[in-house]
Amino acid sequence: MDPGAKILSLEQMDQWVASEKAAGRRIGFTCGSFDLLHAGHVQYLAAARDLCDRLIVAVNSDASVGRYKNPLRPIVPERERMYVVAGLAAVDAVTVLEDDRPLSLLLRWKPEMYIKGGDYKADDLRSGEDVRAYGGKVEVIRPGFDTSSSKVIERIGVLSAHAEPEAASAEAVRGLVLLDRDGTLIRNVPFLHDPSKVEILPGVIEGLEKLQAAGLRLAIVSNQQGIGLGYFTIQDFIAVNQALLRELGSRGIRISKIYFCSHSLAEQCSCRKPAAGMVIRAMRDFKTPREQTFLMGDSDEDMQAGAAAGCRTVRAGEGGFAAGVEQIISWMA
Ligand SMILES: [Zn+2]
Repeated sequence: MDPGAKILSLEQMDQWVASEKAAGRRIGFTCGSFDLLHAGHVQYLAAARDLCDRLIVAVNSDASVGRYKNPLRPIVPERERMYVVAGLAAVDAVTVLEDDRPLSLLLRWKPEMYIKGGDYKADDLRSGEDVRAYGGKVEVIRPGFDTSSSKVIERIGVLSAHAEPEAASAEAVRGLVLLDRDGTLIRNVPFLHDPSKVEILPGVIEGLEKLQAAGLRLAIVSNQQGIGLGYFTIQDFIAVNQALLRELGSRGIRISKIYFCSHSLAEQCSCRKPAAGMVIRAMRDFKTPREQTFLMGDSDEDMQAGAAAGCRTVRAGEGGFAAGVEQIISWMA
């Protein structure tokens, strides 16, 4: 059976709920983001199914996860999260939850049971009152595993911060190169949000290899006002970065961090270049003094941001990357 068959639109769910209720089956309802499915999810959904005859899982949409959890989440898009949840034997039907709270869906289907996994008290659930008002029950399932998607992500982050054991004797970091992205590393496409349009500029791969070989750390500092203006999402931005990092990674080039400003010009933030916010933050994160921090970019804003933070700047627009690298290497000598 294709798990996709369990994924129902709201209208399909209306019919499904009606027929299950007509057959005398008790419906249970739960919801969540299920970003990285782990043992705690599987345990709680199985326990939830034991409390009812049919279990509905409403999976938070990408937009709602971004709102209530973290704008950088989810990792896995909603279509795939729903598919994974639908693949579990304990789950009978899956739908998307566009709101941050499940109340509208609870009132739409009036399941006999509203079930949540976690450390809540049943009385603390905000929708509990409304569920009891229509005659439903609220159940909380205590976690049987000490895990969460956030912990898994944290673990991955910690691992990626560790040097590979065989590289333990690698050269000490001699400095930091902050790289503008659009127009410096990749061809400038206005409001770029399509990973297939990522085109690394000539000389960039070889140049980054040289900088890295010279013991310099690499990071990106990028203005992305398209996010603030609503032209594309943070997820689109991440997808573009992923395409770039995959290509650089295949050549052994490691970008240590990506700083970005998602604000629009009108917001007058302190991070958007030509302001120095991102550069200052990077120098602090990497504990690099300004004398050993270099900024490569293609625009006046890049140069001004670097200068405002007190580090040396190199203009490296199309065709100028190799020369910019030579300049930095000569400063290092
Ligand atoms: Zn900003």
